[in-house]
Amino acid sequence: MEIFDIKNKIKESNQITVLTGAGISQESGIPTFRGKDGLWKNFKAEDLATPDAFSKNPKLVWEWYEMRREICQKANPNPAHYKLSEWESLHKNIYIITQNVDNLHKKAGSKNIIELHGNIFSVRCTMCNFKDNYVPYPLKEIPPLCPKCNSLLRPNVVWFGEYYNPKILEESKNILSSSDLVVIIGTSGNVSVPVYLALDVIHRGVFSIEINPEESSITQHVNVYIKGKAGEIVPKLFDSSN
Ligand code: NAD
Ligand code: ZN
Repeated sequence: MEIFDIKNKIKESNQITVLTGAGISQESGIPTFRGKDGLWKNFKAEDLATPDAFSKNPKLVWEWYEMRREICQKANPNPAHYKLSEWESLHKNIYIITQNVDNLHKKAGSKNIIELHGNIFSVRCTMCNFKDNYVPYPLKEIPPLCPKCNSLLRPNVVWFGEYYNPKILEESKNILSSSDLVVIIGTSGNVSVPVYLALDVIHRGVFSIEINPEESSITQHVNVYIKGKAGEIVPKLFDSSN
């Protein structure tokens, strides 16, 4: 398929769902977990983003989150985030389902966003129902404590081995089932739930486009694979002029 045809496909779609992973934020300077910058003090993300790691050493896990929260707070959206947000304000027919916790889709102005894995600036209490959706970097104390009950607060994100919020999954499935185009950007396909969501809609025959500089576990299933960086490709494809 030529770029002209792909642009038309996007323009003619009634409803587009964009599934994004860490790769869309790579050009904003946010490391992916599996890239070469993914290590911190010799720990892998899989050693830190787990309930087990948190119960053993909450201070260590919070130090790692504080390092990531600083990066996310200072990062700016890149042309891929901005173009998707612009498309939403022009056409109102696009939904973003993101695995990212970095807040960059919101910062770029997108409104129809489902954050499958939560948001790195949101915290919740490990004991009571306290929750705060926006606690900016830096924290006043590490680990932070609940203002209501003085127990440990935790990042309000989905860790490896944890359950997804069923309401959020349901909402994602509903959005995908009413879409006639799915665009998958910057996801390696190592996390199973987002892969399941993508493959389910692809196997129902919905037209699919993938943008990634490397092939992923989804590549062999999509209709069109575009090898390249999100910040360069997205603005070329989501172009409503002419
Ligand atoms: P991932 O599994 O989504 O893999 C990253 C993918 O992005 C790879 O396939 C890579 O080829 C691709 N990529 C790299 N640069 C790109 C670019 N410029 N344009 C498009 N694609 C590009 O992510 P992961 O790092 O393995 O993380 C696993 C989990 O942790 C996911 O839930 C992920 O979203 C989350 N995570 C989130 C952030 C964030 O919020 N920015 C950062 C790291 C990890
Ligand atoms: Zn509490």
